[in-house]
Amino acid sequence: MNQNYNEMPNGYLESINKGIQTVRTFSGHMSRGKGTQEERIQRLTEELSNADAIVIGAGAGLSTSAGLITGGFYPFPDEETRWAWWSRHIYVNRYVLPPKPVYNRLLDLVKGKDYFVITTNVDHQFQKAGFDKERLFYTQGDYGLWQCSTPCHKRTYDNKGKVVKMLLSQGFSIGQNSELSAPLLENGETDFSMLSTKIPSGLVPYCPVCGEPMTMNLRSDDTFVEDEGWRRASAAYAEFLERHRDKRTVYLELGVGANTPVIIKYPFWHEAYANDNAFYACINYGEAFCPEEIEDRSVCIDGDIGDVLGEISL
Ligand SMILES: [Zn+2]
Repeated sequence: MNQNYNEMPNGYLESINKGIQTVRTFSGHMSRGKGTQEERIQRLTEELSNADAIVIGAGAGLSTSAGLITGGFYPFPDEETRWAWWSRHIYVNRYVLPPKPVYNRLLDLVKGKDYFVITTNVDHQFQKAGFDKERLFYTQGDYGLWQCSTPCHKRTYDNKGKVVKMLLSQGFSIGQNSELSAPLLENGETDFSMLSTKIPSGLVPYCPVCGEPMTMNLRSDDTFVEDEGWRRASAAYAEFLERHRDKRTVYLELGVGANTPVIIKYPFWHEAYANDNAFYACINYGEAFCPEEIEDRSVCIDGDIGDVLGEISL
């Protein structure tokens, strides 16, 4: 991922820089934590109960636990095929409710608390589950937004109406609860002969300002548009961190992979290290660890996030 940090507002950039600087001073020895799984969950339960504030940092592993799929970028033969694929992917991940209630469970745990969420996920599940949108920062974009591919201007556009039109044009129908259905054969199986893998050329989205193709508002290269909403959320996140630097703050990291640690993991380690009242918790399937330097004020839980959250009762 080619991240253009130069364009980021200072607050966010600062949290990344502080994280990197602090991690450089660490010995590099990682701890997988102490105690049985039960003791770890008990400790996390106590810390969450007593916390003044909770900062949630969520990565792809959280949406995987909720039963969502992660997509990729493929070469498409033409714009009509590209948008047929993207419209299905956007709709299923962004507009349909996830199969498992992991996000709802998480919302129950922070209700009544002062909280903030930073996430690299682009599927908007926090907002759908009912989290306060003023307390959310989606660093890498949103499946629900398009932008100019050039980009000639820094605005994003809601895509739901156009995505629905694309799906209907392919032969899908949309039910009362937003569920996507395909035409069926008499035996109940999907009738693929009734589904098109292309949308009509007239539905391909173009920039209303310059006429170039539209693209997803996702940070895949330095053309990512940080619109006004992004900048506002970034500033709110930085302000929240600042305001809780001496408080009992729990930094709860969920499903953050080791390959992009600078956005969430390192800043969380930094905040936990710099504040004696802070606590760091990492729940991740197969990748739960923390630096030795903050081991005493950390809990690392290796397991399915949905299962672990289900065992916490506040
Ligand atoms: Zn444009």
